[in-house]
Amino acid sequence: MIVVSNLSFRYQQPIFEQFNWQVEPGETWAVLGPSGCGKSTLLALLAGLKVPQSGEIRIHGERILRPRPQTGLILQDYGLLPWATVRENIALGLRIRSFYGADGVHAPKKSLSLKRVDFWLERLGLASVAAQYPAQLSGGQRQRTAIARTLVLEPDVLLMDEPFSSLDAPTREGLQALTLELTAEHGLTLIIVTHAIEEAALLGRKILLLHQPPNRQAQVIPNPSAGSVRYREQAEYAALCHVLRESLRG
Ligand code: ADP
Ligand code: MG
Repeated sequence: MIVVSNLSFRYQQPIFEQFNWQVEPGETWAVLGPSGCGKSTLLALLAGLKVPQSGEIRIHGERILRPRPQTGLILQDYGLLPWATVRENIALGLRIRSFYGADGVHAPKKSLSLKRVDFWLERLGLASVAAQYPAQLSGGQRQRTAIARTLVLEPDVLLMDEPFSSLDAPTREGLQALTLELTAEHGLTLIIVTHAIEEAALLGRKILLLHQPPNRQAQVIPNPSAGSVRYREQAEYAALCHVLRESLRG
């Protein structure tokens, strides 16, 4: 469970003030709002990359003051190492973890097994490009490599910040479907940030709407029928998109 309590965070201007929000294990959330509303800031706070000025965030009871090994983070620009192959990029986190340990301090006892790398290469359809470098891949393959690199570390919480916004529509839809499959298969708690109404409606069983800062109260829109790509063809989906569009307009 993720509990955000009385969170306040500001740069020069306040972004969150006394903000409260809760995410249950295994839930799939979309965080939707216009550019500049604080979506990336919220994700960075959840990831432990930023620390609130007051209030707190707890994940499974543990206060988040630094990055947590079981939280996976995927960004728009992939963050792959250009000089490493797809296989090496996916293995990187495992290697670092086997060297430093999950807490970054204590080296673990067991030796490094790269079997899981092969599993994820297969699962994400990357086996045929395993020896290639990021520059030789399509945008979709790069983002799948980034996803594999994160999931190989077996996170329980997956945070994604506009992960598909630079991809063309068919690739984006393929990766949205894959994200739904993977969260269901692995019981992940997913929080995906997007400025795209249709993406939020398709992926988020619950939608957190943010507005021009400061955000003081969480506005949550339930969307229980989300979870399959066929939802896109249903009247309920179209109605929800309409509601979201109206709320964003404001
Ligand atoms: P979003 O991801 O919703 O587009 P951000 O969380 O990136 O929004 O930013 C929220 C607001 O905070 C924006 O007005 C942005 O300009 C500002 N901001 C973001 N990062 C910084 C920073 N490091 N220093 C100062 N202001 C920032
Ligand atoms: Mg952002």
